[in-house]
Amino acid sequence: MQTLKLTNSKQDIATAGKLLKDGELVAIPTETVYGLAADALNGEAVANIFKAKGRPMDNPLIVHIADLSQVDDLVAFVPPVLEDLAKAFWPGPLTVILEKSDLIPDEVSAGLDTVAIRMPSHPDARAIIKAAGTPLAAPSANTSGMPSPTTAAHVLHDMDGKIAAVVDGGPCEVGVESTVLTLCTRVPRILRPGRVTPEDLFDVLGEVEVDDAVLGQLAEGAVAASPGMKYKHYSPKAEVYIVDGSAEGFAKYVNEKVAERAADEAAVAALVFDGEEDLVNCVTLPFGAEDDSLGQAEHLFDDLRRADELGVSDIYVRCPSAEGVGLAVMNRLLRAAEFRIIEVD
Ligand code: AMP
Ligand code: MG
Repeated sequence: MQTLKLTNSKQDIATAGKLLKDGELVAIPTETVYGLAADALNGEAVANIFKAKGRPMDNPLIVHIADLSQVDDLVAFVPPVLEDLAKAFWPGPLTVILEKSDLIPDEVSAGLDTVAIRMPSHPDARAIIKAAGTPLAAPSANTSGMPSPTTAAHVLHDMDGKIAAVVDGGPCEVGVESTVLTLCTRVPRILRPGRVTPEDLFDVLGEVEVDDAVLGQLAEGAVAASPGMKYKHYSPKAEVYIVDGSAEGFAKYVNEKVAERAADEAAVAALVFDGEEDLVNCVTLPFGAEDDSLGQAEHLFDDLRRADELGVSDIYVRCPSAEGVGLAVMNRLLRAAEFRIIEVD
């Protein structure tokens, strides 16, 4: 299949909308990461998303809408609190989980009786949903397990030849996927952290819980509240290690690793904070200032993909703060690193 490279011109957005209406897959820009979209009400089209990504069929998809009125048909009932959340965070990087209506194909909900819904703020995403004239099911537009795509080039790296088209709307502003909040528990619970923080949600809801799986590792055989939490995820081909400690401790540890691999110049890369480019004796990729979780979220996936392009086998990452949006950064890094954290001085 030839993958069409579309711009965000009016004409190209109309083309993307028509392809989606016809049951094709189109990768679209959103403010979080690029999404691989299909008509959410067309089970056959949605099944093709799983094939293109190599995604396990038991991992449900988020349904993207452009207008609040679209929610009514998709859910069994609208809880009053949704209005408060929508007022505060929609359009934007918050996904809510509600009891689903019969309109939602099983492929979208992966057999659960709930559905995840988000109204993105990216103008191109909104224009494409409107042009398609239907809600769009869209997970991240990467090969399953790889870092999520934050540029059209990342999408093409994984999906060229597998999907009908990609719309290039420039680099994504947030850089990590949406916050996923379930409203199906007694106290609303964050299943996946994102740009909308626990503190932001607390301000609107007055109570919110963070699921244990956000920073923890699921026990073998445990049921994941959000099936996406189960998998090794967001991970480049290289092995990722989080190194927790001071800049000096990090430098000492990584330089030892570099020395061990001295014969192999391209063996090791380090993800460091801005300004630490000369900290270690290997190639460094700065992913944001130490106190700037927003910047770290924006650059993390791009840096992990860049490290893969360098062909390194090991990536050592400075351990970020897990406060605020840092919770999302840490959540993604832990999965990229398969929970390997090395403590240094
Ligand atoms: P994506 O943004 O690519 O990775 O995938 C959507 C995320 O939302 C995954 O982590 C899913 O497991 C999660 N998700 C989608 N629908 C539901 C649902 N009904 N219940 C719980 N989690 C969901
Ligand atoms: Mg994903």
